[in-house]
Amino acid sequence: MFAQFDEGGDNLSEAVKKIVIAACAVAVCAAAIVIIGTLPDGEHSATGFMMDTAVTARVTGKNAQQTAEGALEAVSDLERLISRTVDSSDVGRLNSKRTAELSPPTLEILEQSLEVCRRSGGAFDITLGSLSGLWDVNADNPVLPASAEVARLANAAGYEKIAINEGVVSLPQTVLLDFGAVGKGAACDKIKAYLQTTQTSRAVISVGGSILLYGKGDFTVGISSPERGGADYIATVKMSEGFVSTSGTYERYFDLDGVRYHHILSPETGYPIQNGLVSVTVIADNGLISDALSTACFVLGLEDGMRLAEEYGCEAVLVTADKSVYVTDALRGKTEIVDGSYSFAKA
Ligand code: AMP
Ligand code: MG
Repeated sequence: MFAQFDEGGDNLSEAVKKIVIAACAVAVCAAAIVIIGTLPDGEHSATGFMMDTAVTARVTGKNAQQTAEGALEAVSDLERLISRTVDSSDVGRLNSKRTAELSPPTLEILEQSLEVCRRSGGAFDITLGSLSGLWDVNADNPVLPASAEVARLANAAGYEKIAINEGVVSLPQTVLLDFGAVGKGAACDKIKAYLQTTQTSRAVISVGGSILLYGKGDFTVGISSPERGGADYIATVKMSEGFVSTSGTYERYFDLDGVRYHHILSPETGYPIQNGLVSVTVIADNGLISDALSTACFVLGLEDGMRLAEEYGCEAVLVTADKSVYVTDALRGKTEIVDGSYSFAKA
């Protein structure tokens, strides 16, 4: 997925895209924040690699360069709290000790996530950490885990087994908490709160598959090609400020014997969900909700996924493997398909 300011012209956004991609390559190697110089028309930009993904902040307004750097800092701060791979983080401590007192921001993310677990009927489940670790979906390592082990870990998981008592959280054995499906959206929420303390007029901040669009006026979001991913898009959506997240089978996967094994898992079977969907995008006025719902609606499938997005009052774009594009009613006039091999689903 990509996003751009609507004013500024195509040349500028192409230039920005190229600079961002080049800078991300550097950032991946150096695992540090890379600051890009001033861009035309007062837009400033910073990019880095955090939460296991590329983060890009493009900001206009007073002190825009400093603000773009501050936005990246907000992501690092949250990563220190909720990353599974940081031993000292709240989630790292909880996963290793099984019982831990969590800081208020982490507890809030936990509570918000648990609500999505409940409202999705368990399709969304933040206790699949052991299962995700077992799969370790990685294009360089196309290995199927033993089916008995998949079943064992799927059985052991279950968000309803998490106990919370006055900020102290306990996990049952073999269960690992995983905020992989909400962390990037939650980071966008933190960035929005930070931007509100600055003199930013417009900003586009992307944290992997989640984007914050900030400021007045229209923005255009591109829905990445499920086949090619990245900046190659099949449709555009016009929207005003808010949050947008995409979950897709092209993000982390391997192909084996004609089957795509990707990173979005069915809590029921423990296997990557195979329901004909290849990409789900959710627009919301809250980052965590847009991120959680993109994953939850993916797991639920076309009909139930659309229903859940609507229950939350969110807009959604669902793409199926047969190249049909389904959109919620309010998005119909705002979505344009730009890849001729895709078409809107017939009503
Ligand atoms: P996203 O890219 O936001 O859809 O998040 C995908 C990540 O969420 C995966 O890499 C896993 O860490 C985690 N995950 C996988 N399946 C589920 C699920 N059914 N419910 C919640 N989190 C999941
Ligand atoms: Mg998500």
